[in-house]
Amino acid sequence: MSDVELHKDLRAGVRELCRSFPDTYWRELDARRGYPDTFVRALTDAGYLAALIPEEFGGSGLGVAEASVILEEINRSGGNSGACHAQMYTMGTLLRHGSDAQKRGYLPAIASGELRLQAFGVSEPTTGSDTTQLKTTAVRKGDVYVVRGQKIWISRAEHSDLLLLVVRTTPPDQVKKRTDGLSMLLVDLRKAVGHGLTIRPIRTMMNHATTELFFDDLEVPVDALVGEEGKGFRYLIDGLNAERILIAAECVGDGRWFIERATKYANDRVVFGRPIGQNQGVQFPIARAHVNVEAADLMRIRAAELFDRGEPCGAEANMAKLLAADASWEAANAAVQTFGGFGFAEDYDIERKFRETRLYSVAPISTNLILTYVAEHVLGLPRSY
Ligand SMILES: Cc1cc2nc3c(=O)[nH]c(=O)nc-3n(C[C@H](O)[C@H](O)[C@H](O)COP(=O)(O)OP(=O)(O)OC[C@H]3O[C@@H](n4cnc5c(N)ncnc54)[C@H](O)[C@@H]3O)c2cc1C
Repeated sequence: MSDVELHKDLRAGVRELCRSFPDTYWRELDARRGYPDTFVRALTDAGYLAALIPEEFGGSGLGVAEASVILEEINRSGGNSGACHAQMYTMGTLLRHGSDAQKRGYLPAIASGELRLQAFGVSEPTTGSDTTQLKTTAVRKGDVYVVRGQKIWISRAEHSDLLLLVVRTTPPDQVKKRTDGLSMLLVDLRKAVGHGLTIRPIRTMMNHATTELFFDDLEVPVDALVGEEGKGFRYLIDGLNAERILIAAECVGDGRWFIERATKYANDRVVFGRPIGQNQGVQFPIARAHVNVEAADLMRIRAAELFDRGEPCGAEANMAKLLAADASWEAANAAVQTFGGFGFAEDYDIERKFRETRLYSVAPISTNLILTYVAEHVLGLPRSY
């Protein structure tokens, strides 16, 4: 099957699945900040969340391009991939750097849905975007690591069995490079909660199931270490391009959803005896947002192709994420303006998606940090931080 046919099939399949989860489903969850368990289960049962897991471990062995199509279609249908995308973007770390025992032990169970790998723990309250300075420590004592510290904004921790956790295993004053000394642990949350790990939910402006984690001498078996000790930052960076591409695709999905809804409303709504969409003042913001979403999509496709061919794609992945997050936010604003007062009414879903898509200019990486990457690594300007 050609890539074009495969993507067409994937889009049709995800769209069909999403039809069972209409606006009312997401709206009701949003109101009570509920987790979309039924949706995530359906997506898992249909095999979509195992897209990146190799066939030998029970997945479908697809590339990031295909995974991005799946997430795009979820957002395009009015849903929110934020509930389940982490499994896709943490997968590369386990595949590339996990031991055979870890892969054999976890991947088939993740593919079947028996285990959920939906939590990724990097961010900390005091160090923010300055990841190399993170302070949560893991000190080896015999056959365990003892983990102490705090993480913030760790999404879906309450709805995941496993957490890929970035910790400091060597103090910053004992490392040669500031990127050394961090490690990745695959923590079994089912054993950790109540035995040194406390999870505190954080209520945010959108329904995102994010939390704060407190590690108080949590003991994690040493065989939970992914790859080599001290190389965690490199593994983290390795996975970031996939994450950027997947988030860009979600933003493209959001952007297309906003544009479709705004266009329909502008055609239907009659004021002053004609459709509001007949006014250029209403048309142009929607048309401009469309242009920008489509341009962002091209960069996302290019980045995904490079990624799946194993070629360097840091510049493209970062640019795709920035362009797509900007474009979906622009489309969200255009939709609110087009809907007028109704843009603010919960029953129209525009305000919900508006809140949801706003996140992507800040997380998983903020726009400024992407610009610093482009300035330094693409243009050769001096490092600014
Ligand atoms: C809902 C939600 C879900 C999240 N989920 C996860 C998750 O699952 N796992 C996880 O690990 N993290 C998660 N995050 C954290 C997210 O990745 C961070 O919030 C994000 O990377 C920004 O870090 P910060 O909030 O510490 O901002 P800060 O680093 O404090 O930055 C604040 C502002 O200052 C700007 N800034 C900082 N330094 C510079 C500089 N040198 N130059 C220019 N501008 C600068 C930033 O761009 C930003 O706009 C989530 C966040 C949110 C809000």
